[in-house]
Order: sequence, then structure tokens, then C-alpha cells
Amino acid sequence: MKVLVISAHPDDIELFCAGTLAKFKKQGHSIAMAILCNGNKGHFTIGPEELAEIRKKEAENSAKILGAELFVGLFPDLELHVNKESVEIVMDVIRQVDPDVIITHSPDDYMMDHINAGKLAIDASFCATLPNYRTKVNRVSKLVPIFFMDTASGVNFQPTEYVDITEEMPVKEKMLLCHQSQYIWLKEHDNIDYVEFMKALNQFRGTQCGVKYAEGFRQHLVWGRIKPYRILP
Ligand SMILES: [Zn+2]
Repeated sequence: MKVLVISAHPDDIELFCAGTLAKFKKQGHSIAMAILCNGNKGHFTIGPEELAEIRKKEAENSAKILGAELFVGLFPDLELHVNKESVEIVMDVIRQVDPDVIITHSPDDYMMDHINAGKLAIDASFCATLPNYRTKVNRVSKLVPIFFMDTASGVNFQPTEYVDITEEMPVKEKMLLCHQSQYIWLKEHDNIDYVEFMKALNQFRGTQCGVKYAEGFRQHLVWGRIKPYRILP
């Protein structure tokens, strides 16, 4: 199976679904990570061009840990809008990967890049199935199940499916720590310890389903995308 995550920023995948990806990987599935924004606005002292370069490198280091295919920085931060151009860019990522399942942001997440990345994942993955919708990539993808991953610190998100990531936690932490520019920035600027922030959420989700650490998901339940079996690991 091929798993594609469509996320907004470098570090979102590590915060919200990297444990599940590591588990998919362990089971022999292949992983593709699409990070739509380049992270160029997430700092007060490093300028946008330099920051985008740093964050691309950090995302590459993290993707390497899973041996994941990576698409990163297709839009500047906060310039990710849902329009014809962006739908077609995301369509071509989907057509290249040809996934069997997509994980993306919840429609209730806290900021527009996350919300728009989720919307684009839904729109583009539908359009990518239509032969008459021609784009740069010839292949036509199939309509696949979509799962929404947790929101920032779990606000306004009630999972309906859980993945036990207790064994995968060291890999998840290692991936998150690849994003050093964010780790230091959040610590200095917002007094947030990234790793604790991530672990608190996964411990909370773990408590809900009776394990040490878990990631929570909600399936996008619409006609054509539902399967009669469990897809998450
Ligand atoms: Zn983000």
C-alpha cells in the first residue's frame, strides 16, 4: 500500500501522524510526504529565503528516517489558497504518488494553511481521478480513503480511530527533532518544548484507548471513499 500525507508545514507530519507512518512502514508499506508550504514565515529573526532553505533541509532529514518520498515547499506560508492553480499542483503530487490512502489536516484545525491543505487534499484527490482533467502528470489516480489527523494540541478533535504508537515513539521523536529551527524557536519565543507538546497529545490519546502513546484520526466519511475493512495500522 502507498500512504500519502498532505500537510501544511515542515513539522506537522511529525507532530500529528509520524508514529502511524512509522508503523505503516514497519508493515512494509511505502510512504510519501507532501508538505505544501515552505515554512518561510515561521520565525522572527531568520529571513524568509534562508528559513525556507533550512526548513527544507530539516524536512529532508526527517523523511530520510522513514525512507519516504518527499514533496516540500510548493507554496510560501500563508499563501496556500484553494483555487484552480493550487488544486492542479496538488493533483500532480497525487497523480505522481498514486496513493491508496491519504492522511491530511482536519477541517477544524487552528490556522488557514492547515485547513486549506485539508481542503486541497479532498478536492485534488477527487479531480486526480478524472482522465479528462488533464494536467502535467498523465497518470490518473484512484479515489481513495482520507483520514484527518489530530489538530494542534487536540483542540476540537474527537478521534474515531486510534493507532498505538508506543513502539514507534522513539522514531517519531527523532523525526520531530530534525526540525531544530522550530524546536529552538518555539522554546525561546513561546516557551513551548516541542517534544513535550507532542508527547502530551499522544499520551492523552493513548489514555483514551488504553495504551501508552497513540495517534488519533477521523475518517472523511463520504461516498466512494469508504472500505469495508480497517486501513490504519
Ligand atoms: Zn503547521
